[in-house]
Amino acid sequence: MRQTQFAYQDKASFAEALQSFQRNHAAGSGPRLFQIYSEVLDPAVIADVTGTIEEYFPETPYFGCSTSGNIIDCELSENITVVCTDFELPTTQFAIFQYDMAKLSVDEITAQIVEETRKNPWVKAVEMYFTIPEGSTTQFCDGLKDLRDDIQIFGGVTCSDDITSDDSCVFTRAFGFSETSIIIVFYGGEDFYVDSIKVTGWKPLGRKFHVTKSQGSLLQELDGIPAYEVYRKYLNIKNDENFFYNTLEFPLFYEHNDTTILRTPVSSNADGSINMTSDMDIGSVVRISYGDSRTIVESIRQDSQGIADFAPDVLHIFSCAARRTFWTNKEPTYEIQPFHDISASCGFFSHGEFLRTKGKLNQHNVTLVIAAMREGEKKEAVKRPETQDDNMLSRVPLVSRLATFISVTSLELENTNKQLELVNDKLKMAAIIDGLTGLYNRKEIQSQIEEALSRVDQEQFSLVMLDIDNFKQVNDTYGHQEGDMVIVALADILRNRRVGQKQNVSSGRWGGEEFMVLLRGTDADSAAYIADLMRESFANTTFKGIRPQTVSLGVTQARKDDTADSLCSRVDMALYKAKKGGKNRVEVE
Ligand code: GH3
Ligand code: MG
Ligand code: MG
Repeated sequence: MRQTQFAYQDKASFAEALQSFQRNHAAGSGPRLFQIYSEVLDPAVIADVTGTIEEYFPETPYFGCSTSGNIIDCELSENITVVCTDFELPTTQFAIFQYDMAKLSVDEITAQIVEETRKNPWVKAVEMYFTIPEGSTTQFCDGLKDLRDDIQIFGGVTCSDDITSDDSCVFTRAFGFSETSIIIVFYGGEDFYVDSIKVTGWKPLGRKFHVTKSQGSLLQELDGIPAYEVYRKYLNIKNDENFFYNTLEFPLFYEHNDTTILRTPVSSNADGSINMTSDMDIGSVVRISYGDSRTIVESIRQDSQGIADFAPDVLHIFSCAARRTFWTNKEPTYEIQPFHDISASCGFFSHGEFLRTKGKLNQHNVTLVIAAMREGEKKEAVKRPETQDDNMLSRVPLVSRLATFISVTSLELENTNKQLELVNDKLKMAAIIDGLTGLYNRKEIQSQIEEALSRVDQEQFSLVMLDIDNFKQVNDTYGHQEGDMVIVALADILRNRRVGQKQNVSSGRWGGEEFMVLLRGTDADSAAYIADLMRESFANTTFKGIRPQTVSLGVTQARKDDTADSLCSRVDMALYKAKKGGKNRVEVE
């Protein structure tokens, strides 16, 4: 692949440049392609550019997009930049598609893209140029999950030099100019190779928050409070017209599709909700993050070596416009300089970046996505000179140290909290559960009876009280431990749903070898039936070295005028009758 760049100033000088290019540059053995990056959105100006290309290269395909700054060879280039790519191998292919989001549904578009890749088995990479979408791109990203696993996907959201504006456009030779379309470019062929990476360098800062309320990309609540409150409380960012700029350096860091993603707030609403650039799923964990220049430079140092080893012919760069503003006291392209010596490159500052990782396509923000492309076998890998730390980076700034301090402190607090939560859960359990049987203890079953009684107008319920027969003998004959075993066996039956209990059942240990079962929504007849199943099941239980045991049961249904005392006395009375009547039986009162 060979790349030739043109800085567009005006129609006449561009025409001259194209003419000279035509005279002096023979095309490669493969196809030729023009690409236009434009900070100017005026369709008339764009038509001047594309018209000139059509005049001198009537057969050559082109596509273009609006940008928030153009990048050529890792430096900022002219407002309108044209790049001509000559593929040098006849086996290399590309194809350009354009889908209008105003005319087709997201599902229709993704289905068509998937279908096109099926029809074109040579495709190895899908490049996307998205005009700023109305809603979230999550559905679009998910729609491409059926794309062959080995196809790389990368791209960016096009925009304008005002990054707060929704203006954006794309255009192709075949489909014309559009403010609501997606351009899809396929690249591939036998001897075409591609690799793609993302770099962020943004680090999580401070504590975790859970997304507790959201609707698509509208982030309503974090940990139950309006999402905006988090920015106000921790960063003192006001809910005003500068919200977008102020939060730009502090995007939310979150896990999605097993990948870390940065999401920037777009604007804040009066109710404290925040419009994000893409979906924020309820239940996901987010943290505020901040750009750390050392981390960025270090990640880039490592990743640029990986890209150099790939020995690309060309790099396509999609860098978030927020990164441009981040390096305010440097060159806007400061961080991508290490890629300069690797190969020719072109790209733009975007409003969102796309990359397929681990088979899943995600939209990122504040991220740098780089696609490396090559035709033919790997040439000698480019050796990059080691970049020198400059002053700014060798002296760790105070803010970076403070951020580390905050992160470490928050992590420590989070760990302590986690341990406290575990202990708390255990204590809560211990307070309501009986240690020997694992059933509820008497206090808990009593309070559940009281609760059921308070709603007896809406829902009937019954109690079953159980007492093991002649239990003293078990203890006396076999010992206390064996006695415990019998108690646990009855408890297991009460827990076990096979005896006819479905749901709405609470079983508790009333004391010693006595139990109480609360059957919600059950009348006395059904309760007696269930009680008899319990009785039968216990009578049929065999114990190692102990003869079979029996249990007596009392049953009663709660009445509207009952108190907890009157209800419990009545079930106790029923049990007493069962004992008097010969044990191993059920009596109803
Ligand atoms: P009845 O058929 O009339 O119920 O006769 P019983 O022998 O079972 O009499 P009662 O219910 O009054 O006796 C309860 C006995 O249960 C008394 C006590 O020794 C024994 N017991 C109470 N709690 C436990 C325990 O946690 N483990 C063991 N092994 N025995 C217990
Ligand atoms: Mg007893
Ligand atoms: Mg007993």
